[in-house]
Amino acid sequence: MFESLSDRLGGVFDRLTKQGALTEDDVRTAMREVRVALLEADVSLPVARSFTKAVTGKATGAAVTKSVTPGQQVVKIVHDELVKTLEGDEEPGRLKIDNPPAPILMVGLQGGGKTTTTGKIARRLKERDGKKVLMASLDVNRPAAMEQLAILGEQIGVDTLPIVPGQRPVDIAKRAKQQAALGGYDVYFLDTAGRLQIDQVLMDEVQQVRDAVSPRETLLVVDGLTGQVAVEVAQEFDDKVGVSGVVLTRMDGDGRGGAALSMRAVTGKPIRFVGLGEKLDALEEFDARRIAGRILG
Ligand code: GDP
Repeated sequence: MFESLSDRLGGVFDRLTKQGALTEDDVRTAMREVRVALLEADVSLPVARSFTKAVTGKATGAAVTKSVTPGQQVVKIVHDELVKTLEGDEEPGRLKIDNPPAPILMVGLQGGGKTTTTGKIARRLKERDGKKVLMASLDVNRPAAMEQLAILGEQIGVDTLPIVPGQRPVDIAKRAKQQAALGGYDVYFLDTAGRLQIDQVLMDEVQQVRDAVSPRETLLVVDGLTGQVAVEVAQEFDDKVGVSGVVLTRMDGDGRGGAALSMRAVTGKPIRFVGLGEKLDALEEFDARRIAGRILG
């Protein structure tokens, strides 16, 4: 399918310098290949450009030891830089949920995997951390979405807020807050409504809910296969409601995961988890090394 970066660079460097240090010319040639590899992995063009520029400075003049080829040396430098950019300084899967009951606001476009991811994280908190969790759907326009969350709750043994027809999202949020406090819950999730695209009504609604509960975490759930669109959605949500972390779904697909790099580079938001399938245990903490390896192929 894709040619790996090592293969690409191996070919290029066979024709260039042998041992010693990487020359400016070597690096320039290599960076062209790196840029193509990043673009093929669905990294956005501006990010691929600025990334290769940053790596150029680091790679030029770097010593090439006897045990590796110049191509391998460049791949290592690129890999390390990718990991550094992707990783940031936060612990990926760690949510701020001390001081119970901690509200977690789930936001994103419809179909991105928000409800499924709510169930996945709720399950993880329950099973791994022994937390008492409550989930509430605020999707008043789609009764099916509310039902979906209730069914998920039954599957994973997590309580959901009883559905009261006719309530506004902000009132459901307040009811969830009250219920979470009364019921001794550690965490409560507010699964907000998604739309097919971002609109003002959606943002107003999410802002009202945010102001009513002051979420400890606002997690944006986006489809990792949508590349640049995922990044634009993240910027928009961050501007309007503030995002504390991102979950990239559908990372089980064929894509190379370049959206992760663009997301990090453009928004600066930590990626907390990746979704790896439809099943409720198909969730992993974000692992910068694994994604870096996948981007490089
Ligand atoms: P929402 O509209 O954002 O709440 O999206 P849903 O949670 O209903 O998910 C939409 C579809 O995507 C469902 O069929 C999910 O099973 C599926 N889905 C969610 N996360 C993942 C994932 O990580 N990988 C795959 N392959 N499918 C997923």
